[in-house]
Amino acid sequence: MRTEPLQIQNFIDGQFVEPIGGKYLDNIEPATGKAYSQVADSDSRDVDLAVAAAEKAFPDWLKKPAAERSKILLRIADLIERDLEKLARAESIDTGKPLSLARTLDIPRAASNFRFFATAILHTESEAHITDGVAFNYTLRQPRGIAGLISPWNLPLYLLSWKIAPAIACGNTAVAKPSELTPMTAYLLCEICREAGLPNGVLNVVHGTGPKVGAAITAHPKIGTISFTGGTVTGKKVAEACAPLFKKVSLELGGKNPNIIFADADLNAAIAGSVRSSFANQGQICLCGSRVFVERSAYKDFVDRFIERTAQLCLGDPLDEKTEQGAIVNEAQLDKIKFYVDLAQKEGGKIALGGKTPEPVNDRCRDGYFFPPTVITDLPVSCRTNREEIFGPVVTITPFDNEEEVIGYANDTDYGLASSVWTQNLNRAHRVAEQIHTGTVWVNCWLVRDLRVPFGGMKASGVGREGGTEALHFFTEAKNICIAK
Ligand code: NAD
Repeated sequence: MRTEPLQIQNFIDGQFVEPIGGKYLDNIEPATGKAYSQVADSDSRDVDLAVAAAEKAFPDWLKKPAAERSKILLRIADLIERDLEKLARAESIDTGKPLSLARTLDIPRAASNFRFFATAILHTESEAHITDGVAFNYTLRQPRGIAGLISPWNLPLYLLSWKIAPAIACGNTAVAKPSELTPMTAYLLCEICREAGLPNGVLNVVHGTGPKVGAAITAHPKIGTISFTGGTVTGKKVAEACAPLFKKVSLELGGKNPNIIFADADLNAAIAGSVRSSFANQGQICLCGSRVFVERSAYKDFVDRFIERTAQLCLGDPLDEKTEQGAIVNEAQLDKIKFYVDLAQKEGGKIALGGKTPEPVNDRCRDGYFFPPTVITDLPVSCRTNREEIFGPVVTITPFDNEEEVIGYANDTDYGLASSVWTQNLNRAHRVAEQIHTGTVWVNCWLVRDLRVPFGGMKASGVGREGGTEALHFFTEAKNICIAK
């Protein structure tokens, strides 16, 4: 039975509404290449309506005791868990990711996001400072007003909830824009928010393209806070639009993450971890390790076993339970992947596995966007393939001789999002982690998540930090109140 609507409308002031221009975009299922629903093709007029609703809702929401806001967010988390199967299926159809991944990663983590911030706001502390015998200062953190929340297609519900939950938990209201490529779970979340009793106007979702809706959000004078996750090129445009308006901005952008394996690592764990970090969600996670560096004495053994294991990954229909590798999100992304695989060969790389469009996985998916896990060796570290974000199931493997050399390799990119280091030498782990320029360094693990830790990138991977206290601080304004003695 069909549960999704044919047309995904905007959610403004607690109601599902047509975009003012009456236009819709096709919403394509990546596994089939066919439109399976339509999504509102909104413009700045719809953003204006959403801002008006958010502005109207703000004074009451701000005054609600934290305990009441918390209860509503907890209800949202419960309802996400109740609807896990429905949401996971919608996410899998929308994105092309394996249903099993949506069910075990994306949707549970979206529920955790709401639960975490629902309880975090009950445990905040305010700083106080005594200024000698002269004054007493305390810090008052107040919500900033309307937050503009813009998210990408790769982890649609998980990343959108990572922004919505802290923004509204702190007492802000929000105008959110999911990616136009993957709008379905945001639509379902709006239904859940309504059922959970979130007051009208606290969360508004405007669907549509970046240039029309995203740009209208970043340019809107009444939206003072912008939390953006997406590509680095778009991030630059967002920063340019926000700077003259002095908006508070957080940018979570692209990555080209190194994965470093020392010869003393537990090789079984390093191989299993590297296969996962290279190919989870078809390599379309900003944190995926797309450059693997292996100490020369372990290189051959690692490459052989890594390829053997990767070759066993089951590429298939995302809705099939045994599928481990699903579809690429759209044709443009698939073309980009193919472009880089060609470029790698021109740059001297050897395709050790994959690299070619696969046979159709079944009849239903005949016109879908599929690409197999691809392993490339023998590339110079400084070539484009090794420096630019591909965002697909493509990984390069390069040998290194010593610590200093591999730290240089790891840092030889404009990006600085995440890295992983595999070694059993604790001193080395600390030493290397300290010198790698990435916002997260995982040691002997990957994608382990603790919602209290700061999350974000260095260099072209972004500015600002999300997660835990960082998010609570981002979505509030710190005011110092100084009382003379
Ligand atoms: P994208 O930059 O194309 O789009 C992201 C969002 O921005 C979409 O909602 C899009 O419609 C919107 N947008 C586009 N143009 C805009 C504009 N001018 N103004 C405002 N908004 C605009 O990114 P994508 O292709 O959807 O996602 C993939 C990228 O996201 C990759 O680079 C990936 O590394 C990155 N990413 C980063 C993180 C992180 O936490 N650092 C997480 C996930 C994805």
